Amino acid sequence: VIVREVGPRDGLQSEQPVPPADRARLVTALAAAGCRRIEAVSFVSERLVPSMAGAAEVLAQLARESRGAVVGCRITALVPNVRGAEAALAAGVDELTATIAASPVYNRRNVGRSIAESLSEVGRICDRAADGGVPVDVVISCAFGSPYEGDIDGREVAALVDQVRGAGAAAVTLADTTGMATPRVVGEVLAVTGTDVGLHLHETRGTGLLNAYAAMLWGVRRFDTALGGLGGSPFADGAGGNLATEDFVALLDDLGIGTGIVLERLLEAGALVRELVGHELASKVSTAGPRTKLSSPPC
Ligand code: ZN
Repeated sequence: VIVREVGPRDGLQSEQPVPPADRARLVTALAAAGCRRIEAVSFVSERLVPSMAGAAEVLAQLARESRGAVVGCRITALVPNVRGAEAALAAGVDELTATIAASPVYNRRNVGRSIAESLSEVGRICDRAADGGVPVDVVISCAFGSPYEGDIDGREVAALVDQVRGAGAAAVTLADTTGMATPRVVGEVLAVTGTDVGLHLHETRGTGLLNAYAAMLWGVRRFDTALGGLGGSPFADGAGGNLATEDFVALLDDLGIGTGIVLERLLEAGALVRELVGHELASKVSTAGPRTKLSSPPC
């Protein structure tokens, strides 16, 4: 199973700003833990998202000081538009992510565009990235439900998947932005989209890990998770954190499914991120420790 770690971007986005040098340290710690795909930064407006300011600085530091630990690691940047894509390409990223929502209202509120307008922008981002030889993974927000429209028909999601592939996306990821997915809904959507998609799951209502497990049984092999279960969208009220990388990797380890990530090293990276954000993490495994390391069974 391929795990793309999104903590340094999706996780830290909703925290108080962490200096670029510390964000680069975190990416290095994740790479040292065996994370091979890391969404490290986003090239968004620093005025709208101050916590993501200094993306080029983060990448420059990675290139300068710690590229050794990050060798073989695919570093991803989230970009909202062509201007962001150009900045990310100039900074030397390996992959771009761009987003579009399956919910018209969410899309309008999030980026001030209709879905059709976002689709055109996604096409321009893919064209520009293709010139630079960099793949784009298009993340479809609200793929399992919207706080505004409620359930989203799986056929609409599947149609959007086809459209973004037509626009040049190298990969598509379905995101449960506001935590509305359940194993039932995930199954209904995957039945129409097929399982050649990544899943970006949130733990808002306690179904994140369940959804991931169910999706794996159906054949999905790519997942976005965030160290510590950090995250939540600054643009979506009530959005809980991302599925925690530690919790997912612990489950996969127990199932004998390889990720290349070493849980103990991941927990060390978790200790660093706890220090950087200054609060406890939502991840169950980072709180309780790995199941085989318990010194005495809990009562
Ligand atoms: Zn997320």
